[in-house]
Amino acid sequence: HLQDTTTLHNSVKMPWFGLGVYKVEEGDEVYQSVKSALSKGYKSIDTAAVYGNEEGVGRAVKDSGIPREELFITTKVWNADQGYETTLAAYEESLKKLQLDYVDLYLIHWPVEGKYKETWRALEKLYIDGRVRAIGVSNFHIHHLKDVMADSEIVPMVNQVEYHPRLAQKELLAFCKGNNIQMEAWSPLMQGELLNNPVLSEIAEKHNKSVAQVILRWDLQNGVVTIPKSVKDHRIQENSEVFDFELSAEDMEKINTLNEDQRVGPDPDNFD
Ligand code: NAD
Repeated sequence: HLQDTTTLHNSVKMPWFGLGVYKVEEGDEVYQSVKSALSKGYKSIDTAAVYGNEEGVGRAVKDSGIPREELFITTKVWNADQGYETTLAAYEESLKKLQLDYVDLYLIHWPVEGKYKETWRALEKLYIDGRVRAIGVSNFHIHHLKDVMADSEIVPMVNQVEYHPRLAQKELLAFCKGNNIQMEAWSPLMQGELLNNPVLSEIAEKHNKSVAQVILRWDLQNGVVTIPKSVKDHRIQENSEVFDFELSAEDMEKINTLNEDQRVGPDPDNFD
């Protein structure tokens, strides 16, 4: 179900499934897509300061009338705001735009060299002060995670990274699992590039599901939270229908053969 959750290492429950709103326009477009998702039972929304659409997300959340505690809202501190005081200020700015008193998960968007550890100290402060329910990182390689963990009190609760059948991130996933860091997939559909793949199409046909649904199901069965983006009503609905079938071990293996360490986004070691 859409309300099914994983339990983060601090006991906060995070939905396995949510809506991403990258490149969704501020104003009517983001408002409508978030409203649509919430009306279809989505509980989790993933935005970021740099997406420029926190206001529309906030309005849709407010207008949905859904009790705040039933929802899970994620936003992220942008690269230009990294550093201790600047991150604290960026958090307040995001809350203001979202019209919220807290977010459920605040992430460091990218590991900005020389800055991400100070940024992490700000997230720890927000967490210890009870201003945010969970804190985490995004686009962190194993070496970034080790670096943060070496000098901090709190292990990130989540690492949100590019993850799809062409980029299976096996070592990173194992590292995260070994350290109780929940991995979360961005661009789970490879921004649409995988939807005509013959291996996936064959599996989809067998289950009477779409390729998008097969990929999202593969995420869940690998223990990875997933947040596909769509602004189209019928796709928002379709993407959420992934809790009523199961991929066999053989299906999973076939999908695993698609891995080519191929990214649609930048490599976190070289993203500027
Ligand atoms: P995605 O892989 O979710 O693909 C979205 C695109 O796939 C849509 O624009 C649409 O064209 C297509 N699509 C969606 N559902 C479909 C369906 N059922 N059938 C056919 N086509 C379909 O790409 P994304 O938006 O890049 O990633 C998802 C979310 O991850 C983002 O919206 C954002 O919230 C997050 N994200 C985070 C980072 C980061 O650095 N942390 C980077 C990129 C994305």
